[in-house]
Amino acid sequence: MLKYRKGLSDMPAYDVAERDWRLKLNANEAPTSLPPLVEERVISRLSRVAFNRYPNQEMADIIAQVASNYSLREEQIFFGNGSSEIIEKLFFAFGGSGRSIVYPEPSFSMYRIYVKTADANGVPVGLEEDYSLDREKFVRAVRESKASLAVICTPNNPTGNLISLSDIEYIAQNVDCALLVDEAYLEFAGEDASAVPLLKKYPHLIVARTFSKAYGLAAARVGYMMADASIVEMTKKAFMPYHLNVLSLVTADIVYQMRDEFQPRIYMLRDECRRVSETLKGFPGLTVYPSCTNFILLKYAKAVELNEYLTELGIGVRSFGSAPRLENCLRVSLGTREENDVWMKEVKRFIEEKG
Ligand SMILES: *Cc1c(COP(=O)(O)O)cnc(C)c1O
Repeated sequence: MLKYRKGLSDMPAYDVAERDWRLKLNANEAPTSLPPLVEERVISRLSRVAFNRYPNQEMADIIAQVASNYSLREEQIFFGNGSSEIIEKLFFAFGGSGRSIVYPEPSFSMYRIYVKTADANGVPVGLEEDYSLDREKFVRAVRESKASLAVICTPNNPTGNLISLSDIEYIAQNVDCALLVDEAYLEFAGEDASAVPLLKKYPHLIVARTFSKAYGLAAARVGYMMADASIVEMTKKAFMPYHLNVLSLVTADIVYQMRDEFQPRIYMLRDECRRVSETLKGFPGLTVYPSCTNFILLKYAKAVELNEYLTELGIGVRSFGSAPRLENCLRVSLGTREENDVWMKEVKRFIEEKG
């Protein structure tokens, strides 16, 4: 018997069924690769990379861009391999035995896994019937568990709804532990919904962002955190030296310089979100949850069968099986207008024939 770390065998794996989907709508990725103008600049930059050298100035370059965009100090920003790595390291930095980490449920499925890897105690706070967050209940859970870290996700994955800035500020005012706001889908809701301006007022606040969703850079694995310099300084200790490779850093640097080029696609996805939601609301038996992201959560009595039907057609969506509070729910990432018409037609056919 090999002696694995205690708790590892009971730890759930992040298992999304991947295959060669005809239509891949299960991971909230962007429907198309980089805008051609951006891709051209990226390829040209990559051809000038010194492959024999460890990363050097590249992280500082992109940090300088973000700092200038949000009027933050460079010491307040740090990049990781996706915001996943940022979140995992924050859980590590504030976790450890005897420490509690509070997070909403349902929310990003990785939180409870990072709690385990951080050897901490997970305290899920159930969202309300409509998946809104009861701020009083959340604050109470933080206080009662004497948590070291509290996490909220806005807009929330997989439910799609936004937490208002006044609710975020209320929570920041009423907890004294570190408060992480995961803004993986923020660009779809618009900068006005971001907690970044609150960083100046609340030194225990942390904002996490990713290049994987609105900027469609999932292949490069780039995300970052913004927080008080003291939090960044401590959390940095949990990362390996040179943890983020030069190829990803220079790619993200150009994507960020050219971020206006992504705006048309963000607007297209926003319009599609509205159009698809309206269309689906006309389908009998389907509950459509409001979303300000690039995905939509659906509830349907025969969700399991519908998922099987779509899978057989090569259409991959995210089915939540029996996950708490997500029974009979499917999360569908939005594609192009044509792609959305394809999967909606199949959903309609299923409901008409088998619903
Ligand atoms: C996708 C996602 C992330 C992480 O994305 P990365 O690709 O690791 O940057 C973090 N939080 C939420 C809620 C997400 O949906």
